[in-house]
Amino acid sequence: MSPAPHPGSPAHTPAPRIVWLRRDLRLDDNPALDAAAASGAPVIPVFVLDPTEEIGGASRWWRGQSLAALDTSLRAIGSRLILRAGRSLDQILRAVAETGASHLHFNRRYEPAGLRIDAEIVTEARRIGLEVHEYPGNRLHEPWALKTLKGDSFRVFTPFWRRLAEQYRSPQAWPKPQQLAAPAAWPTSLPLEAAAEHAHWSAGMAAQWQPGESGAAGLLASLDGKIGEYGDARDRPARDGTSRLSPHLAWGEISVHAIWRRFAAGNPAEHGFLRELGWRDFNSHLLYHFPDLPKRNWNSRFDSFPWAQPGEALRSWQRGLTGYPIVDAGMRQLWQTGWMHNRVRMITASFLIKDLLIDWREGERWFWDTLVDADLAQNSGNWQWVAGSGADAAPYFRIFNPTTQSAKFDPDGDYIRHFVPELAKLPGHHIHAPDLAPASMLSSAGVTLGRDYPRPMVDHAMARTRALSLYQNGKPQR
Ligand code: FAD
Repeated sequence: MSPAPHPGSPAHTPAPRIVWLRRDLRLDDNPALDAAAASGAPVIPVFVLDPTEEIGGASRWWRGQSLAALDTSLRAIGSRLILRAGRSLDQILRAVAETGASHLHFNRRYEPAGLRIDAEIVTEARRIGLEVHEYPGNRLHEPWALKTLKGDSFRVFTPFWRRLAEQYRSPQAWPKPQQLAAPAAWPTSLPLEAAAEHAHWSAGMAAQWQPGESGAAGLLASLDGKIGEYGDARDRPARDGTSRLSPHLAWGEISVHAIWRRFAAGNPAEHGFLRELGWRDFNSHLLYHFPDLPKRNWNSRFDSFPWAQPGEALRSWQRGLTGYPIVDAGMRQLWQTGWMHNRVRMITASFLIKDLLIDWREGERWFWDTLVDADLAQNSGNWQWVAGSGADAAPYFRIFNPTTQSAKFDPDGDYIRHFVPELAKLPGHHIHAPDLAPASMLSSAGVTLGRDYPRPMVDHAMARTRALSLYQNGKPQR
């Protein structure tokens, strides 16, 4: 099919095509961009800052940086990014009207707000005769494509993963366009500065991350050297043992298929790293089929759980001042870098929910605002997993002991020393529980509890018994 000529342009010039970029901020292995480029028509890459799609502060910072990186890459192949702000429907239709575009290309997304917005646009496009081409989003599977033997959606990870690993075939890579044809005139665009977030708290994130496609490619390449140790290293927060690809995946700066292709030798179902990508797809699958996942307990028996008022306790947790060093190290890593190690995410989340009895949705909200990899499906799926209220969740009686977890997974205390420097001089295992250290040791490490570092805000043994009794009285069952 040949594209329609652009009104007012010579008959042989095809009308431009809009590629609407969202969570796919990359040139390589990008089906929507590849299809538009392959048409030979001028291509107009558009990103819309849509205020109806709320994202957190750390994500806004990442998005601003990533859009700037994308624009630079587009300029290197003769193109540029058009940035708009407002409701997506209005902005896309306006761009179509301004440019005479004949086609709209986009890669799918699967969260409730995105699905709603995309459905509106498809309906309106049909009405005005704009051709819409949708392509699979950055997942290993389309969430409607995998079914249990009974024909239902999956609710349990292991059979889901087994089926996905059996059925998955990596698609051929979509090549990175070497050149994009520019339209005769570019439509108006906001300056990229309009997407920039210059918050005072962003310096630590800027020091840690390189948002954009080349940052993602660098991390993928460096993973070659550590993938063999992933199984052992992935639970050690002091080690650089995981990929740190999560924010790049959240913004689609790297294709999940490209990651798979690189490591898929052998039986994928037994590959620990690919299995984590499977969890990512599983949570997306859950959110697609159960759009209330971010708001409601999957297991409604948790609806009557007597949560405590968040208040000052929530603030102490957020600021990393709970008196449990591993929890505080994690919360400070999150605040300083926009990311937290997975093992420590589980420990801090369990502490909030089970030791402080604060509703998991409060923690989910804080992570949503502060994580550079904030992703609705992953965040809500994992918070419900820790709470015990989710599909295929940890059982409610699994309560992480922050001190033993700390000793097991940060045995030398290096992670704590880095993020809780006021405890850095405490020797040996005392760093995991400074309140149990002898007074002389605290004094020679320069720590006065209650002044330099807080005493534990709650006694874990008591809190554990309390949580179990509340859970048992309310009898939330799976
Ligand atoms: P790696 O170990 O290198 O794993 C590779 C990829 O697999 C990750 O980039 C990620 O895309 C995926 N992955 C790994 N672990 C999980 C998991 N448990 N669930 C789903 N996908 C996983 N991850 C997010 O991407 N966004 C979130 O908002 C998010 N919120 C979380 C909240 C809580 C309470 C918990 C316990 C976990 C959350 N996770 C979230 C999952 C996990 O912690 C991160 O994906 C992981 O730490 C990212 O680091 P990495 O890229 O080095 O992971």
